[in-house]
Amino acid sequence: MNLTDNISALFSPKTVAIIGASTHPGKVGHAVVANMLDAGFTGTLFPVNPTTDAILGLPTVKTIDDLPEDIDLAVVVLPVAAVIPAMEALARRKIRAAIVITAGFKEVGEEGASLERRLIEICTTHHIAMVGPNCLGLIGPRDHINASFASGFPQDGSIAFFSQSGALCTAILDWALEENIGFSRFISLGNKAVINEADMLEYLRTDPATSVILGYIENVENGPDFIEKAARVTREKPVIIIKSGTTAAGARAASSHTGAIAGSDTAYTAAFHKTGIIRANDMASLFDLAQAFSTQPLPKGPGLCIVTNSGGPGAMAADATEKSALRVAELSEDTTARLKAFLPPYASLTNPIDIIGDAPAERYRKTLEIVVTDPQVHTVLVLLSPTSSAEIVETAHAIIDVAKTSDKPFFVNFMGGLRIKAGEDVLRGAGIPCSIYPEPLIACIETMHAYHLWRNQPVQDYPTVPHDPAIARRVIDNARANGATEVVEFQAQEILRAYHLPTPRTILAHTAEEAAAAAETIGFPVVLKIASPQISHKSDVGGVKVNLDNASAVKAAFSEVTAQAQRLRPDAHIAGCLIQEMAPKGCKEVIIGFKRDDRLGPLVMFGLGGIYVEILKDIAFRLAPLGRDDAKSIIQEIKTYSLLTGARGEAPVNLQALEDILITMSALALDFPEIIEAEFNPVLVNAEKAMVADVRITLAAP
Ligand code: ADP
Ligand code: MG
Repeated sequence: MNLTDNISALFSPKTVAIIGASTHPGKVGHAVVANMLDAGFTGTLFPVNPTTDAILGLPTVKTIDDLPEDIDLAVVVLPVAAVIPAMEALARRKIRAAIVITAGFKEVGEEGASLERRLIEICTTHHIAMVGPNCLGLIGPRDHINASFASGFPQDGSIAFFSQSGALCTAILDWALEENIGFSRFISLGNKAVINEADMLEYLRTDPATSVILGYIENVENGPDFIEKAARVTREKPVIIIKSGTTAAGARAASSHTGAIAGSDTAYTAAFHKTGIIRANDMASLFDLAQAFSTQPLPKGPGLCIVTNSGGPGAMAADATEKSALRVAELSEDTTARLKAFLPPYASLTNPIDIIGDAPAERYRKTLEIVVTDPQVHTVLVLLSPTSSAEIVETAHAIIDVAKTSDKPFFVNFMGGLRIKAGEDVLRGAGIPCSIYPEPLIACIETMHAYHLWRNQPVQDYPTVPHDPAIARRVIDNARANGATEVVEFQAQEILRAYHLPTPRTILAHTAEEAAAAAETIGFPVVLKIASPQISHKSDVGGVKVNLDNASAVKAAFSEVTAQAQRLRPDAHIAGCLIQEMAPKGCKEVIIGFKRDDRLGPLVMFGLGGIYVEILKDIAFRLAPLGRDDAKSIIQEIKTYSLLTGARGEAPVNLQALEDILITMSALALDFPEIIEAEFNPVLVNAEKAMVADVRITLAAP
């Protein structure tokens, strides 16, 4: 048995032992027994308690050692000091899975963290699939299991939910009870000591009971594993995640909450982008998306048809649609003719279709039957204002009838409050998403459409980047041997050349005479740059002279630059100056860099603006590795993209050359984990080619 096999014992156990079961109502050890009984658990329950004979009519087992062998699942609700000995005893009884509800581990500091390490050790040695510690437990309506101390038991459904926060589990559960939303699985992950979000995604991917996966996370335990598994599951089922810790204040709250250190939000956004995870920005949209994805088919295109009984709301919905990635569908002539044949003369036959304030339910029904067959219509949005003649409940039934016959998604916006409530209830009961505002519905449809595109997009492959690892390794090791955390430009260029990145021809000159000779060799004009391991930002000390077009200018620049650098930075060792091939006039300056996120790996950045990048902040990010599609899309994402494609009659720059640099940099980042940051600033690019004109590579402290 391995860990993966044992995860199934967590969800569908035949035998469950409750360690710390209690006779006292109000105690967690009592709630778990009661919940298991209330859920109608069909397997065998073993409450373990040394001092009582029976709990809620079930005979108790006195000690763990008295339990039979090969119990599927143990639920541990002991005081924290008793957890480790209990888990050791359970391991001897060969349990397959465990839920440790008890708190007081990593989240409370170093002492708890060391207990948690011991817990992990026991579970890994014995392949125990453990959820927790510090969690609410787990619920599975279909398997009649409620191994939690939550109050309330959701009905069976196809949505799975996992959460790092137990409190959020209780909130979602309560919402589900009120809204009649069914769940397939409900998992409070707690500290994620053994089973984490990546394991959940992998399990739920193949779980036939689950069609939509929801999650609340504050961080991920293992970035690469999470990314790999997430990217696989989103091809099969939508994964909607709400993540906190997005602001600095949020991140602090998260770290004191579960003792985890939140990764940067930019890296998470990039991870979600890379894996096709849908991010819900707030609880309201998490609920909306959960309902939409679990009840409606995916729209097969962007075309939305709006059917309304009033002009104003129709126009508002159309406005919101135009602002989204959807579009107000243009109806076919055939559709329009069929509508014209029965609608009143003053109805509006173009989308949004206004069937007028006196529209009875039958007019809605006929209209919907016609528009739903139009191939340009991918989604139907029905609007209703509660006019005096509106047949609210009957209209709800008409919508349900037509929706049933179609494989297109339906959404309903009954505007109002009191009067429309009965209609909404009917629609909800039939699983049709409704809202009293059109905007959240349109946002849902847009997200579903984007997800449909993601699922149908071919899986990207990551090209292998030819390079000479030995050269790069030697340069990095040399720098480290000298105790440096930065690789100086001249040496960093060697790494770039080892990866076949385009670098300007560069010669290190120790004297003014050598500088002039180097310039002759390279050919005028040249650039002269101060070469010193201590001077990282060369322009700050006047250390860069461009466009030097004769030998005496080069000599003069050498003397001036070295003297000035020595004066401004007396601490610096000045090796001389670099004489460098000058990029042709009219190049655009872009920045390509990466920063390593602790958990999610190298985060590659692209931006326009060279030295102005910090002011413009026009940058985009992707997680490594980058494939060709990523490289294209990161460039397209910046606001000033059109400056690269030929604004005002300029020639477009060689975008493929930039893509190559991006792909190569992401490969370099993955090859050398000791590089924590690298920046090519600027990369100079014109219609013909790109060139890395400056490079800074930062190493982790040894
Ligand atoms: P630093 O960033 O350390 O100040 P750079 O090497 O980036 O120094 O040089 C400063 C600026 O000089 C660059 O942003 C670019 O505008 C220009 N420059 C540098 N190298 C070249 C080159 N080879 N060809 C053309 N312009 C260059
Ligand atoms: Mg620079």
